[in-house]
Amino acid sequence: MSERIVTMISKEEIDKRVHELGAEISDHYRANPPVLVCVLKGSFVFAADLARAIDAPVRIDFLGMRSYGEGTESSGVVQITQDLSRPIAGEDVLIVEDIVDTGLTIAHLIDLFRTRAPRSVKVCALLHKPARAKVQVKVDYLGFTIEDRFVVGYGLDWAEKYRNLPYIGVVERS
Ligand code: 5GP
Repeated sequence: MSERIVTMISKEEIDKRVHELGAEISDHYRANPPVLVCVLKGSFVFAADLARAIDAPVRIDFLGMRSYGEGTESSGVVQITQDLSRPIAGEDVLIVEDIVDTGLTIAHLIDLFRTRAPRSVKVCALLHKPARAKVQVKVDYLGFTIEDRFVVGYGLDWAEKYRNLPYIGVVERS
């Protein structure tokens, strides 16, 4: 069986949108630059580009989360594999997420962070699949709304492959 990736969102479209998001975030947080929390592993590419599109001295931290197994269906279990390196009490936290699918991961993270007394918690997601929502979460900064397809690339994997593609695509097997 062979696999090919069909482009859904091109590198150029992503670049343009990431810069727009960066400008919006820079404006909003002008007085108090946020801590960007990059949710690993899927957000590492988006967070790296977004951070450079923000014109403010942000701090960057990483959180390891796992909500999927090797397949494409959620296990329903959200597990923290690596915690933040520093406290977030009193900070403005901006969670940077690759994709909000069922919403369970983000809902869990927001609940967890609120127990740590940050000044604010907001969410920036590159992609959102509203058709799959199990819980309602507010995405404060959103790149693209997409249909219910399993996507790869720009940090997103399929069984750990394709994270390094510079665009978002759909896997087709024949
Ligand atoms: P949620 O908890 O919102 O269902 O899922 C969030 C996580 O599931 C994402 O951070 C991502 O790691 C994974 N995920 C959800 N949809 C997709 C998809 O279409 N492609 C890939 N590669 N991962 C996805």
